[in-house]
Amino acid sequence: MIFLDYASATPVLESVKKAMTPYLSEIFFNPSAPYLPAKHAREDYEKAKADLAHTIGSKGDDLIITSGATEANNLAFTAVPENSTVLVLETEHASVLNLGKKYEAKLIKVDKNGRIDLEDFKKHLTDKVGFISVALANNELGTIQPLAEIAELIRKERENRLLNNNPLPIIFHSDASQALNLVPISVARLGVDLLTINSAKVYGPKGVGALYQGHRINLKPISECGGQEKGLRSGTENVAGLVGFAKAAEETKAHQNGNRKHYEKLRKILKDELKKSEIEPIFLGSEKYQLANFCPVSFPGVDAERLIFRLEEDEIYLSTGAACSASKGEPSHVLKAIGLTDQEIEGSLRISLGKDNTEEDMHIAGQKIVEAVKKELQFSL
Ligand code: PLP
Repeated sequence: MIFLDYASATPVLESVKKAMTPYLSEIFFNPSAPYLPAKHAREDYEKAKADLAHTIGSKGDDLIITSGATEANNLAFTAVPENSTVLVLETEHASVLNLGKKYEAKLIKVDKNGRIDLEDFKKHLTDKVGFISVALANNELGTIQPLAEIAELIRKERENRLLNNNPLPIIFHSDASQALNLVPISVARLGVDLLTINSAKVYGPKGVGALYQGHRINLKPISECGGQEKGLRSGTENVAGLVGFAKAAEETKAHQNGNRKHYEKLRKILKDELKKSEIEPIFLGSEKYQLANFCPVSFPGVDAERLIFRLEEDEIYLSTGAACSASKGEPSHVLKAIGLTDQEIEGSLRISLGKDNTEEDMHIAGQKIVEAVKKELQFSL
């Protein structure tokens, strides 16, 4: 098979599996139990947390471990100051967009490549804004946002508030689920107060994520009981999951440069294959601002859902967009936001590459996609 949907799921690395295994069997203890082996499990948990935190330039105490990015985003939104305005990018992942709706968030526009429209952002950054959420990289286009520039505008607004005796804080959150793979992350350099990260996208186990909580940022508990995770996310700690996530994040960081070059090469081969025939693909987003493993493309006039079924027969697996919205059969809000026509959206594939893809895969997949598009075009004539 050729898997081209790594933005939705990644296989667990062998080294990650190995690191996790003891915690699934002999070191199975509940880290909150009072006896010595459990205390050792607690130490290992805290060590893994510190290791994970280190990969984003923070400390173990600053992380709250969750069941994934969705939960981390939910926790992040508990920081919204009362009666304040919330701003979110119109292309955010469904979890952030839905949370935004609860707070009647204002949507910030993007340009044709999916980059934030900074003029629109400035216009919306009034003295009533209390919370802003902008993903470091988008999950459909792979577009990377200029977080440091956004943080600088926020810093200026904070200064204005000091001068005007406006006590309302501004909290800056970013979902870095997709970005952690290929973008070197330092929370200080990005200027964020809250950052979501996700094990499932970096070759770690699914069902594990974390929220970085900057100093003096108040969060509210999303579950009540044993007081784990600073009382914010009660429930027995997932020791194996966190150990796996920390290992996966470390491996990802160590190989980021090599991986980026590898994906750039693969993406070029794939694009060249798609460009060879007369089917006229439209490549979405701009490589300049895009995660190197993303190759979203549209074939106007083709029904991408049918294309996917055709390709599945050749064991080539890809998707039309984010797994959660694709399953609802709704047109992508991200592709709408970058101004694609209905026909262009209907013909769009989200191709995302991963570490097991080879150059040969790109040649085969490219040729098979061209064949399938041609068949579909004949079908719709
Ligand atoms: N945020 C982004 C940007 C994502 O790509 C995803 C996964 O698709 C999520 C959040 C949700 O992650 P999870 O399903 O692990 O909670």
